[in-house]
Amino acid sequence: MSSAMITEDGILPIALGDNWVYAVISDGEAALVDAGPDFDGAWDALVAQLAAAGLSLGDVRSVFVTHAHIDHCGLAHRWQDQGIPVAAWSQEAPQFLHGRNIIGYQTQYVFQALARMGVPQERVTGFIEEREKMRAAFRAGDDTGGGRRRARWPGLIRGTPFKPDQLLEDGEEIAVGRRRLRMVAAPGHTPGNAVLFEQETGALFSGDQLIPGSIPNPGWHYDLSAEPPRRFRSLPAFVASLEKVGALDVRRLYPGHGERSDAVEAELDRSRRHYTKRQRQLREALEGGLATPYELMRVLFPRLPDRRLWQAMAEVVGQIDALVERGEAMEVEEGQLVRIRGA
Ligand SMILES: [Zn+2]
Repeated sequence: MSSAMITEDGILPIALGDNWVYAVISDGEAALVDAGPDFDGAWDALVAQLAAAGLSLGDVRSVFVTHAHIDHCGLAHRWQDQGIPVAAWSQEAPQFLHGRNIIGYQTQYVFQALARMGVPQERVTGFIEEREKMRAAFRAGDDTGGGRRRARWPGLIRGTPFKPDQLLEDGEEIAVGRRRLRMVAAPGHTPGNAVLFEQETGALFSGDQLIPGSIPNPGWHYDLSAEPPRRFRSLPAFVASLEKVGALDVRRLYPGHGERSDAVEAELDRSRRHYTKRQRQLREALEGGLATPYELMRVLFPRLPDRRLWQAMAEVVGQIDALVERGEAMEVEEGQLVRIRGA
């Protein structure tokens, strides 16, 4: 076995475009963390990187997927085709059935919510137009989406709906050889997001919960089993999960994107500072009286391009949720509009 690429923790990091998949190795067996994104050539690249470390597909005993975003779970169906079981937190199970529509299914609810939050219709239209332009660029083979951002993967990534073979609960373990990986439920980034922790090495497979050098954006998610569909308040959950993860004895981060890091406390603090700062800005903005979430967004992001509208509103709405949860702000319904008042 070539050990050059295997970390001192006995972990093989596998690069697939912008994503990391990790093989946790013990006695010639491996458990995978995340299935990997499904772009042309991804599967072959994955198999080749396993082979370079002396592992065949038959050595992989299980695949755990941290959450239902397609860059993390896109290849789950390929693993299942190999007869290798795919596991996830039970709470995320319904999300995997959306496949590549994991963002799209929420669109109609998000647009309704944006109108209630005071976003002018022309800005929503502007956002839709920008998004269509980007999609057209993708379809035309321009992976950068019109050259606005760097390509994160060598090509389009697919999302095939699937049903996990094994549903885990918080604290349950995945065994591979003599090693034990504990699933830690960490809702927020998605409603059923989870991370894996190995007590013995202090390795945390943090998925999108903790990404060194960047702050994950809180997403929009709707519980479609409620009538009307209920918005999941992602940011308070995300911050609570951050503290839950911070209470573990983590010595090294193995994130879903970006560089591995031993600076665990510094990374936690960077995230905390970000949320503290944004919430302070919002509290200050609310001293002027009632404001719609859109007006608050304009205070935080005065020169926001239309294409970033969804993302920016998700951030602001998330921070408002956190303030409301702590009793520092309240939502006031006024006909079709919702306004926020400082408390
Ligand atoms: Zn994600």
